[in-house]
Amino acid sequence: MPKTLAYAAQSATTPLAPFTITRRDPGPRDVQMDILFCGVCHSDLHFARNEWKMTTYPCVPGHEIIGRVTRVGSQVKNLKPGALAGVGCLVDSCRVCPGCREGLENYCEGEGGMTLTYNSADKHGAGPLTYGGYSTAITVDEHFVLRISDKLDPAAAAPLLCAGITTYSPLRQWSVGKGHRVGIVGLGGLGHMGVKFARAMGAQVVLFTTSPGKAEDARRLGAQEVVLSRNADEMSKRANSLDFILNTVAVAHDLNAFLNLLRRDGTMCLVGAPDRPHPALEVMSMIFKRRRLAGSLIGGLRETQEMLDFCAQHGIVSDIELIPMQRINEAYERMLRSDVRYRFVIDLGSLRG
Ligand code: NAP
Ligand code: ZN
Ligand code: ZN
Repeated sequence: MPKTLAYAAQSATTPLAPFTITRRDPGPRDVQMDILFCGVCHSDLHFARNEWKMTTYPCVPGHEIIGRVTRVGSQVKNLKPGALAGVGCLVDSCRVCPGCREGLENYCEGEGGMTLTYNSADKHGAGPLTYGGYSTAITVDEHFVLRISDKLDPAAAAPLLCAGITTYSPLRQWSVGKGHRVGIVGLGGLGHMGVKFARAMGAQVVLFTTSPGKAEDARRLGAQEVVLSRNADEMSKRANSLDFILNTVAVAHDLNAFLNLLRRDGTMCLVGAPDRPHPALEVMSMIFKRRRLAGSLIGGLRETQEMLDFCAQHGIVSDIELIPMQRINEAYERMLRSDVRYRFVIDLGSLRG
């Protein structure tokens, strides 16, 4: 396969810049696609700047990929050239561990675990590393390629591949639905999808934000109540009132203020993954109400397809701002200022020229 144009970070402190990678030729089970759009996840920024202390350079981020299939291997069953397809955070896993057998490839316990779309060792050898969607083409095993309904706008569907599944999966795991009062913390890429999904599932949705200017948008996106989380009065009025909280905040913050909002037996699930520890937990508040604190990592392939089908059925996509590849560094700075409405999506046409 010809060389592929990409954008890479060469170190934690250098801006992303043009870079050329090699993709493998499709094997019997592989799908090759031209990338049309790629969403910009806050995890891309954490990785590019080595905030989680696990980045190998050069790093080509991007795991919210929508593409058009160009070639398929002889054993590929469900995708044909010309089809719209998606790739999320995973491109491989062991396939045989209990997690993989249950369709939870995202919790693969096999040797080496799952292969992330970028910054993992590339088992298939084009590598040495996997490189993500800030590039013009990709080759992926069919098992890790999602079908995208023609009903969905392809650019606005890209963020479903990470922000979508990361919020859909815990809402399903904790059976959120009618009669539940659900808090979503943070109105960014993940948070705005959380609001849409929780509302579509029938819950009463309360959005917690640090940005007063987002209140109107939050209501339009589906929140029935909007609370400024830095206002202690507004927070205390909601004590003991929520069944479930999905916390998407990307920086360390006081979790106790949110745990106190849970009813007895309520759960707060963390999906935000800051680079620093949160301040200490107030154990008594958890003990006296049997409150639970949990975490969740993206979702398996089967559930990701279920989420995409749910989106096609309910007309759900992300609210996006389309950018050319060349504006990625500026987009990262805006993301750090919580100034994203509500997901940047890269138009890879800008890289093809
Ligand atoms: P994002 O678009 O930047 O949104 C994060 C939101 O957090 C901001 O929009 C802001 O919302 C809120 N926030 C920012 N600074 C804050 C502060 N100082 N105090 C309180 N709230 C603050 O990021 P994202 O792409 O949604 O990702 C969010 C986090 O989830 C990241 O850490 C990312 O790595 C992680 N993630 C985890 C998984 C997983 O599988 N668990 C998957 C994808 C991403 P307001 O303006 O409304 O306050
Ligand atoms: Zn992501
Ligand atoms: Zn496995």
